[in-house]
Amino acid sequence: MDDAKGGMFVDGTWQPVSGGVLAVIDPATGEPWAKIGRGTPGDVDRAVCSARQALAGPWGKTSPAERGALLMRISQLIKERHGELADLESRNTGKPRRQAEADITACARYFEFYAGAADKVHGETIPYDPAFLVAVVREPHGVTGHILPWNYPAQMMGRSVAPALAMGNACVVKPAEEACLSVLQLAALAATAGLPPGALNVVPGLGEEAGAALSAHPDVAFMSFTGSPEVGTEVQKSCAQRQAPCTLELGGKSPQVLFADADLDSAVPAIVRGIVYNAGQTCSAGSRLLVEQGIWNAVVQRLQQAFGALRVGRPQDNPDCGPLISARQKERVQGFLEQARRDGIPLVIQAALPGDLPMGGHYVAPTVLGPVPPEHPLVQEEIFGPVLVMQPFEHEAQAIALANGTAYGLMAGVWTADGGRQLRLARAIRAGQVLVNSFGAGGGVELPFGGVKKSGHGREKGLAACYEYSVTKTIVIRHG
Ligand code: NAD
Repeated sequence: MDDAKGGMFVDGTWQPVSGGVLAVIDPATGEPWAKIGRGTPGDVDRAVCSARQALAGPWGKTSPAERGALLMRISQLIKERHGELADLESRNTGKPRRQAEADITACARYFEFYAGAADKVHGETIPYDPAFLVAVVREPHGVTGHILPWNYPAQMMGRSVAPALAMGNACVVKPAEEACLSVLQLAALAATAGLPPGALNVVPGLGEEAGAALSAHPDVAFMSFTGSPEVGTEVQKSCAQRQAPCTLELGGKSPQVLFADADLDSAVPAIVRGIVYNAGQTCSAGSRLLVEQGIWNAVVQRLQQAFGALRVGRPQDNPDCGPLISARQKERVQGFLEQARRDGIPLVIQAALPGDLPMGGHYVAPTVLGPVPPEHPLVQEEIFGPVLVMQPFEHEAQAIALANGTAYGLMAGVWTADGGRQLRLARAIRAGQVLVNSFGAGGGVELPFGGVKKSGHGREKGLAACYEYSVTKTIVIRHG
């Protein structure tokens, strides 16, 4: 891997930052193990200038087909460096090695998908007055800003910048301070693949410093933010000051609705995986389980078996559940568990933590709680850890009301053999994605993804992202 040396990747090269360095903590041990740069507003400004110059230079003159070829080369290089990138991602985030491998594969897939899309996003002509030709063309915004979270750094990088580059924008990325090493390396790989200097810049640093400077920068024409609703609100306010559009991919409290006629053999493993994967630190985690009353006891029994068998452990040992990202995140999750205990919420099952885990590691035992009343914070707030809360329902209408009964609307799972009910639930649940008889974090690269309500607005993934990262211009020609 290239050596970041605590710097930023700007203008096609490693550069020092002005704000010194920040320590990177190993989630598995709680010990510092690397350093990253602490980018300042001045560093962000240098990156934005570089992006502007790229648009005025060779990058701004590339054809869609050339951009597609470049993105394909980036994808190829990611595949060639798959093992090293997965090691880095696993160490930095604490996620089990196998999950980090899947993330790097997904990152490569984003560049591949948008390589193919670069020259296939067409404009249109509009039948109008016969004396006119009307063409609607799609153009890049210009400089796009990308603020990323720590839970899937490499995947979020691919998801966000690949469509932006495909559409001809120049990107400035501010990854999360907790986990940004793979993001920096990906920018260096893109330069190796031949991406012109300034087309893709990464400035590491703190949210309130580098992140705030990026979202407020007058030359950033479009912002893509993935993170918490609180910070998303600030980013949106900042964009509003200069009327810059933004997409917000925020949190979720996604319901899994389990009817009595569902195939429990396939539903229960998917439900367990839906909350334990990435230690529950997934925006689209299935963190609420709505269970039809008649099968409550059977489902409890199955969950007790499944959670009882879960392996919590060090990332390199490929457990079912690794450590959380930080001591702060661990405290947050433990705070919710403590509140559950104080409020007398029944504990369904808590997995065992092995005794030999490093003392300073950020491990939390996967836990199932329920029944939990609909208004309780465990149901209403995003815990962002391996904690599943159960809610009983008696009939379909109640299930729909409970599913829609939070401020969030990112994703939902529906488990039933009844075709009519599948369709009714898919239509009635307010969410950006509804999966029937399956569940996976965000679905495939091809599938538009994003939220409604407090989960945000705008769409990533699929061709939908190409429309977000471009803007239409209507050209009206009077030819007589
Ligand atoms: P966060 O909002 O604290 O941080 C996200 C990013 O914003 C980081 O890069 C951070 O440095 C930056 N930031 C912090 N303060 C800022 C400011 N004032 N101005 C500009 N940038 C600032 O969130 P997090 O803790 O990194 O991630 C967890 C949250 O992200 C969860 O709520 C989760 O649901 C959400 N998330 C959503 C998706 C999605 O696609 N919907 C994906 C991943 C994570």
